Amino acid sequence: MIGISRKTWLLLALLFIAAGCPPETPPTESVAPTVQIIRVRLLSGVNQVSISATANPILSITGDPQRRELLFPKDQAVWAARNAGGWWIGGQQFAGSVLTLTPAPGSVLSVNQAAYRGSLRLVPAGDGFDVVDDVQIDDYLQGVLAQELYRDWQPETYKAQAVAARTYAMYIARTEGVSRYWDVYPDERSQVYGGVAAETDKSRLAVAQTAGLVLTYGPGEGKIFPAYFSSDCGGITQSATDVFGGPSIPPLDAHPNGDCDRISPHRGWGPIAIGKDELTRRLRAWGLRHARPEATMAELNAMAVASVNSFGRTRSFQLTDSDGMIYVMAAEEVRAAVDAGGAPALPSSFCKAGVSPDGQTIVFYDGHGSGHGVGLCQWCAQEWALEGRGFEEILAASYPQSKLARAY
Ligand SMILES: [Zn+2]
Repeated sequence: MIGISRKTWLLLALLFIAAGCPPETPPTESVAPTVQIIRVRLLSGVNQVSISATANPILSITGDPQRRELLFPKDQAVWAARNAGGWWIGGQQFAGSVLTLTPAPGSVLSVNQAAYRGSLRLVPAGDGFDVVDDVQIDDYLQGVLAQELYRDWQPETYKAQAVAARTYAMYIARTEGVSRYWDVYPDERSQVYGGVAAETDKSRLAVAQTAGLVLTYGPGEGKIFPAYFSSDCGGITQSATDVFGGPSIPPLDAHPNGDCDRISPHRGWGPIAIGKDELTRRLRAWGLRHARPEATMAELNAMAVASVNSFGRTRSFQLTDSDGMIYVMAAEEVRAAVDAGGAPALPSSFCKAGVSPDGQTIVFYDGHGSGHGVGLCQWCAQEWALEGRGFEEILAASYPQSKLARAY
């Protein structure tokens, strides 16, 4: 059997509680044996949306004990909007704040023509409202996997991704989500979620075959952690600490992988040249957004790798402006600054940088990989699956010292 039994888990949980406060570990969360609802903020600050349903849903409003069946004209969408009196939906007025539409059993709701499993919650926000999809985590994951992986990829790659994505979502729900009315974004800021339209047979199977499994790390093995993943590590992963800050933990530390290089299209990218004036503009804009001294830098004159991690992946760059001022930026900060300015963008921060022979441009060269490179590398996972490795082995290689556990 994989992981630990529920009985063993409960024992561990009791030990954990008996120990009082959490042991000194990085920001991880205990795993509770409940089916998790993930709250996806599909839309933010909208004024109206179209809603449709395959069967009449139940409408409920905060503070109003009455639950009503909302009658839909067959196969038609209705408009929902917020107004001074509360909500105008389907030609009817309802007073109150948060409005929830719960699908009839076996039916699905759509917002702006996109179908999502779970309930839709309309939450007043600013002058408009947000639309939040309250969906069971495995239903959510079915709509995530095929957005994150290629359709022809191996089933074991899908299963590894399912466990990583489940762990990540559950971690966010139990940390950042605690102080707000939603957990995750439906895009790259969290995980790409496409709802029912994004589901495939392969994504459904991978979720079902790993149902309840999460990654844990730490004393008692009862703690989950943010199981980051990215497209292509370029051969060496990046530590979460170098990208997101915070204390380091072994599952999210840098380590050499290397195997994505065999099949990935991202191996060996570059050179990418950006004019000094354009790059200076992007760096200043980034500095302004992050209250950093780069906001007022003179024109960028030179750039080079300042430090690498233990395995040789670029960790920071040194930038020198025309006044001779020196700035050191984390590699991912440079990538964020460059990419926020549009094309050309940097596939990853695992590269070198220097001045072109004519002195006019900064050239990023000897590039490896795509994405931040923390945690599971999707292309390495695919290569390992092609070699016949199972998802448990892929996860063990991707998140050193982690364990599989059953969360529900
Ligand atoms: Zn890799």
